[in-house]
Amino acid sequence: MPDKVKINIEEENKLILKEYKHLLRSLKPKLTSNSEKADLRRAFEMAVEAHKSMRRKSGEPYIHHPIAVAQIVVDEIGLGPQSAICALLHDTVEDTDITLEDIEMNFDKPTAKIIDGLTKISGAFELNMDTSQQAENFRKLLLTLTDDIRVILVKIADRLHNMRTMDSMATHKQMKIASETLFIYAPLAHRLGLYNIKTELEDLSLKYTQADKYNEISKKLADTKKDRTKYINEFIHPLKELLIEKEYDFEIYGRPKSIYSIYNKITTKHVPFEEIYDLFAIRIILDSPLDEEKSDCWGVYSVITDLYKPQPERLRDWISNPKTNGYEALHTTVMGPQGKWVEVQIRSKRMHEIAELGLAAHWKYKENSQDNALDEWIENIRETLQNPDTNALDFVTNFRQELFNEEIFVFTPKGQLKRLKAGATALDFAFEIHSELGLKCIGAKINHKLVPLSHKLSNGDQIEILTSSKQLVNEDWLKFVVTSKAISVIRKTLQEEKRKQADLGKETYEKKLKQFDIPLTDYNLAIAVKYYKYQSPYDFYFYIQTKNLTLTDLKELKLQGGKLMLPNSKIEVKESIEETVKKELKKNAELLIMGESSDKIAYKFANCCNPIPGDDVFGFITINEGIKIHRTNCPNAVQLMSKYDYRIVRTKWNKQHEIAFLTGVKINGIDDVGVINKLTNIITGQLKLNMRSISFDTDDGIFEGKIMVYVHNIEQLDRLIEELKSQQGIFSVSRIAENELEK
Ligand code: MN
Repeated sequence: MPDKVKINIEEENKLILKEYKHLLRSLKPKLTSNSEKADLRRAFEMAVEAHKSMRRKSGEPYIHHPIAVAQIVVDEIGLGPQSAICALLHDTVEDTDITLEDIEMNFDKPTAKIIDGLTKISGAFELNMDTSQQAENFRKLLLTLTDDIRVILVKIADRLHNMRTMDSMATHKQMKIASETLFIYAPLAHRLGLYNIKTELEDLSLKYTQADKYNEISKKLADTKKDRTKYINEFIHPLKELLIEKEYDFEIYGRPKSIYSIYNKITTKHVPFEEIYDLFAIRIILDSPLDEEKSDCWGVYSVITDLYKPQPERLRDWISNPKTNGYEALHTTVMGPQGKWVEVQIRSKRMHEIAELGLAAHWKYKENSQDNALDEWIENIRETLQNPDTNALDFVTNFRQELFNEEIFVFTPKGQLKRLKAGATALDFAFEIHSELGLKCIGAKINHKLVPLSHKLSNGDQIEILTSSKQLVNEDWLKFVVTSKAISVIRKTLQEEKRKQADLGKETYEKKLKQFDIPLTDYNLAIAVKYYKYQSPYDFYFYIQTKNLTLTDLKELKLQGGKLMLPNSKIEVKESIEETVKKELKKNAELLIMGESSDKIAYKFANCCNPIPGDDVFGFITINEGIKIHRTNCPNAVQLMSKYDYRIVRTKWNKQHEIAFLTGVKINGIDDVGVINKLTNIITGQLKLNMRSISFDTDDGIFEGKIMVYVHNIEQLDRLIEELKSQQGIFSVSRIAENELEK
């Protein structure tokens, strides 16, 4: 028996209270009134009471989990008391007797609404689950996001704590949770600017899904740490002195890349660990007043690039144009000591806080910023989700991709800044401005130059959209647009267009049937669809219209009691091979000419005798494999001819085949030095034949060999045999007739 830890309720309660006090301390600067403090206490007590009989897989009281989630919400996401209350209660409605009404009564409507959202999105998002169900769950999740973003933030905190404490879980559950995390929570965290959480989620997912890879990389990181630290110091040292000299107030350090990002590089770019140069980045954080932070960042940039040469294409200015998730910083890659490229990130303390805490911090500073990219983004999701025709599955696919995408910045003719996914085209831009503009777009002027719809935009482009009221939506557009808005509007419009065409097609169909005096019944429709080989009446109607089907064939079909009859040939009953062959034989007077009839009749060469062009052959009708061609001197021939004479087809070679046939020869002779060489030289050198294999057996100075070669016809084979026979020391050469070829 393993030692059983005796549960000490008193000790446990002490610990729980201690954790609560820690939470309270972290929240203190954000508590604005005594009633807020009382609310928090009440939430804590409610949660303790509700979960009192529950324990986690690890054995500890369940309440540790909601407290920890609340702590993450406050410390790592930067949210306030209301979110902490929601975090404390996040599992109560789903798992305990507490109802939403209880919560609304004890707190308020918004709190109840957030908890309602948290309860609703407990559905799964695994990679391998039923995709439509997954899409539905995902849609629900996004709907809560547009309702109140705090739902997602608490959910991410919940997920983070679960991932951190997964050790005592069953392996299959770990895998499930980890894959779900990689699938949706890490991308969402990224999109919401929660870089640290995103990184930790990815690393933890890797740890549970690919433990060996995870361990291998972390070990290598640990092994190389000393060298890395040395290099970082070498890089930082002169820089630090210059910055001090210029009186900047700053912090500088090297920061290793995440295990997951290294893993990604190894697997997607096939670079071994040892060759990844950017295992770390240098970060400089400036303590500058708000109105000087931008010029300070550029000042530091200037100091760095005086010291180390920058790579011009690798400058990223996210200060002038922050990322949609609020991220601001200057990134540059410079040539450091020993000729190594090093990435340097420059940001102010304020920018750093946004980078660490994501949008919660972003909101905190919002009064100082005209930037509302996040609101725009959420508005965009809301619009797309409200569209009832949006295919949830398509949307999820695009949305997930978009979460990770880099952005470009472009301008309207009036100089308004627009953010688009990198790779976006002129047409994407048109759709971004307005759906109608996209649908009527015929081209664009970029920086006053005319470009096609599919033109890929670059940072800083100024785009003027050209339209025509005559423009029609085109399926080909889907080949180059990349933004989910453009894709979803084009798809939806195409579907509408198809529906319109199908409606017209239906009218045509009904008109024609009346004309032909064929009753308009479901049965007859089914027969017509089958006759024209379409998948559904909808497709059939669509193609009637778009392919201008005249439907006159229907007039030719038999009508029996008002029912259309399919002609019994062609459509349903496939002729048997034998019937086909017989028909063919009648026409050809029992002479099958190979090469010409091959497109009508399937034939194969029998592998018992491997005939080659020029051999005397006959065809034999088989049940399943069409006609088999045998040599007339095939050992099986006599039996076949006597027993099944009616299945024999006279066969002749028609013309030279370009195909090579595999055949074999048997050789006997004196085992001499270099004999194999001599023979292969004749075959591949002199006669230029392709040899497949050669094998020799020797016994007391005499060898017996078998050579498999490809020939085009019997003449080639005969010449080969003659040539081999004429060699000194060769007794006999003969073609291998029986099925011993593959031995
Ligand atoms: Mn939970």
